[in-house]
Amino acid sequence: MDFEPWWLIVVPVLFALGWIAARVDIRQMLSETRALPDSYFKGLNFILNEEPDRAIDAFVEVAKLDPETTELHFALGSLFRRRGEMERAIRVHQSLLARSDLPQAEREHAQHEIAQDFLKAGMLDRAEQAFQNVLDTRFAVQAVRALIRIYESEHDWPRAIEAVKRLRALVDEPVPQLVHYQCEQAQTALGARPPNLQEAEAALDAADNAAAALRGQARGQASEARIAMLRAAVAKLRNNPEQQRAYLESVLSIAPEYAGLVAGELFECYRTIGRPEEGLATLKNHYLRHPTLDTFNVVFREMRAQQGHDTAWEFARDALRAHPSLLGLDRLLEIELATGDRSTLPNVTPDADLSLLRSLIHKHTQRLDRYSCNVCGFEARHFYWQCPGCNSWETYKPLRLEEIK
Ligand SMILES: [Zn+2]
Repeated sequence: MDFEPWWLIVVPVLFALGWIAARVDIRQMLSETRALPDSYFKGLNFILNEEPDRAIDAFVEVAKLDPETTELHFALGSLFRRRGEMERAIRVHQSLLARSDLPQAEREHAQHEIAQDFLKAGMLDRAEQAFQNVLDTRFAVQAVRALIRIYESEHDWPRAIEAVKRLRALVDEPVPQLVHYQCEQAQTALGARPPNLQEAEAALDAADNAAAALRGQARGQASEARIAMLRAAVAKLRNNPEQQRAYLESVLSIAPEYAGLVAGELFECYRTIGRPEEGLATLKNHYLRHPTLDTFNVVFREMRAQQGHDTAWEFARDALRAHPSLLGLDRLLEIELATGDRSTLPNVTPDADLSLLRSLIHKHTQRLDRYSCNVCGFEARHFYWQCPGCNSWETYKPLRLEEIK
């Protein structure tokens, strides 16, 4: 490419333009800076020196001097909320809402902020009201999500279900806990005096629909197991042990690790319909493929009753050798001691020794005999579908601490 002489002019012209632009910026900045109160800079200084308390005081001062600055109020309000100073956060947002000249968009924003303050402060009634006030605004999605959490914590399942429907209309996002809301509804109907079976079945149909949307996910399996267990409970109340058995047994294939939750009841169904040997065989086969403590207990107890002490102990020895477990041994000794017909058997350890052994082992198994939440680490003696610690759903399987390790 040849050199063109006019190129020499372009360079100084671009330089001059850049200089002018910079001057204009600096001048504008200076004029804006002069308009800012000193407290702004004090506040900034405190922030830079990592003195947040003094920074807040300085910014509160600015907000007082210049009440028109809504942005600063919002910033202070959410800062107070994050620091857990709920009274101050609520006061800031209330003062915004009290302004008659506040534009509609900012009023809605303040309404949403104060709703979050109430929620964090645990004032659920007021939070619910405030979130409802912004349901038709641009904060609708966040508000519905918060309302779902509120209704869930109040165990208000019908309203939680309504809120999920509303959320679904706004955004296309899966809400896995919906199945459990429907199951809780069914549980409530079953626990009523007298039990309302129609209502329970309607809730379980709805739960089925919700679970269909989750199919293929690990969470979906556990939810479906829960539905099957509740359907079994309905069948039991309808005096239909064969149907109850079928639902309980379906849990073994839907979610094999949840078998422990149904093993005892499943065996009782088999006994009621006069097929206890088949029940024992089913559970034993399942145990061999998916060994869990609760299934082991049922199999050992029934084997001892049906096939005698020696066969049951042989099974137990093999099982404990394959899956060494103190809890397993503890339960085994518990059943052995409770059965109490050893006097007729030769070469059996005396009861006193067994009791001593059991009490020694039991001391150590207390710690292991718990379920633990994967999210918050909460440990529970009983199995819950919803963690009592963090309110998350299905955050642990029905496996004790010892079984997980
Ligand atoms: Zn938890």
